[in-house]
Amino acid sequence: MATKSEAGIVHKPVAQEVADLLQSLGVPEASWHGGTRAARSPITGEITAHVVEAEASAVSGAVARSVAAFEAWRTVPAPRRGELVRLLGEELRAHKTALGRLVTLEAGKIVSEGLGEVQEMIDICDFAVGLSRQLYGLTIASERPGHRMMETWHPVGPVGIITAFNFPVAVWSWNAALALVCGNSVLWKPSEKTPLTALAVQALFERAVTAFGGAPEGLSQLLIGGAEVGAALTDDVRVPVISATGSTRMGRIVGERVARRFGRSILELGGNNAAIVCPSADLDLTLRGIAFAAMGTAGQRCTSLRRLIVNESVYDTLVPRLAKAYASVSIGDPREAGTLIGPLIDAEAYEGMQKALETARAAGGRIHGGERVRADAAADAYYVRPAIVELDEQIDVVKHETFAPILYVLRVGGLPEAIKLHNDVPQGLSSSIFTSDLREAETFVSAEGSDCGIANVNIGPSGAEIGGAFGGEKETGGGRESGSDAWKAYMRRATNTINYSRQLPLAQGVSFDVEG
Ligand code: NAD
Repeated sequence: MATKSEAGIVHKPVAQEVADLLQSLGVPEASWHGGTRAARSPITGEITAHVVEAEASAVSGAVARSVAAFEAWRTVPAPRRGELVRLLGEELRAHKTALGRLVTLEAGKIVSEGLGEVQEMIDICDFAVGLSRQLYGLTIASERPGHRMMETWHPVGPVGIITAFNFPVAVWSWNAALALVCGNSVLWKPSEKTPLTALAVQALFERAVTAFGGAPEGLSQLLIGGAEVGAALTDDVRVPVISATGSTRMGRIVGERVARRFGRSILELGGNNAAIVCPSADLDLTLRGIAFAAMGTAGQRCTSLRRLIVNESVYDTLVPRLAKAYASVSIGDPREAGTLIGPLIDAEAYEGMQKALETARAAGGRIHGGERVRADAAADAYYVRPAIVELDEQIDVVKHETFAPILYVLRVGGLPEAIKLHNDVPQGLSSSIFTSDLREAETFVSAEGSDCGIANVNIGPSGAEIGGAFGGEKETGGGRESGSDAWKAYMRRATNTINYSRQLPLAQGVSFDVEG
């Protein structure tokens, strides 16, 4: 059914547009037509396709193919492996508009964010291509004469990638682009809420493989299914690395299961990100930084701003301005140019938001916004006005991640009090300070400042670039993906000692002479 928006724009039926996009991206119809798992768009709540799922019992065969692919791929020179990732980047460039649009239709992101997600994939491909000529190891001074020591980095094996709905394609690419240049095969278990974008990425990968010529079969495989498929991957001892992105609840299960078999896990879990606003902050800049970080993506980023810690001297100026911005922000169909806030992913997300607001209200929170809007447009689509909740203290509900646009605001005195409050949550992903005072900024990014994996000055906590290592501490899981030296987590390190002398001195002066 065609829909007419509040702005009077008539949209093609979502299911029709999805079908057109899947066809233009070369996704075989048999994979999304007539399957058992319904794909849904949060824009209207309508079912857009029925995808074919993998049974958990099929995971073992996929892993066997992945092992065979790994054994061939690890012998291909790394710069040549980089060529495949370069070709993937070319496919993504050529299909950026279509894939970005599919992200909008399936995850509900506004158009610029859907495109931005694909841009992030292109950027990490470029990064990985350069990296394919820079997989450096150290040389180390040996204590023994005529000996040389060095560190070499080797492919590790199939890498299992489990992803969340809110970055349905970029997170795969952060992992896969690095894993592939490092010489590994990959197996991807995408979110069950976003199977179509995963199918589209797989189709683009297959095109890159064709252009490359000679990549092993099964180098990158897609396993569509629920948690049970992810669990089967997690438990398979032939998969040495599991990179899992999602809730802390999921990470607790996956982390333990991987550890039980001595595998390596890269955990990218929930955040509870805060910003501190100091007396010297540039309030215009601060307001814009907060607005994007807290309301953008309808509060459904792992790095979304969830707690605002405001110095008492600027509180009464900043918070009313913020409330005004919240009251007037445009909420609606993410396909439309003026929209800044699209829908929540589903009913569960909406209910979680309302429950957190009720708890905060009962504890004396003063709430601005938070109500459902456009409820008459589609019964199973959930659009909400982002909420500000003013609180006198950091109560229990604030210490949990509610994956929705709620910003808890707290009033504080000096910076030490602000940092203490900032760090007093179980999660440790991203953080910010808004200040023009050098001492305050440096303190925040120092050892006694923010305890997060990401600490920013005068920008919000969300919207990271791919050049830096991405991830967080405490219940966020400790994993790092993307830039810097995150690639090391996808390789096996070997320390080599080479004796080029005619003697056999032992380390630490140990003697062990035998007759013979
Ligand atoms: P989720 O935990 O519900 O699901 C994530 C993925 O884990 C899905 O593919 C799901 O099928 C799979 N899964 C669930 N249980 C599993 C199990 N027992 N074994 C194996 N796999 C299992 O998360 P979601 O609702 O899709 O995403 C939102 C969450 O993800 C938020 O908490 C958000 O902060 C987090 N997130 C974190 C990052 C990061 O980099 N730190 C990035 C994006 C999202």
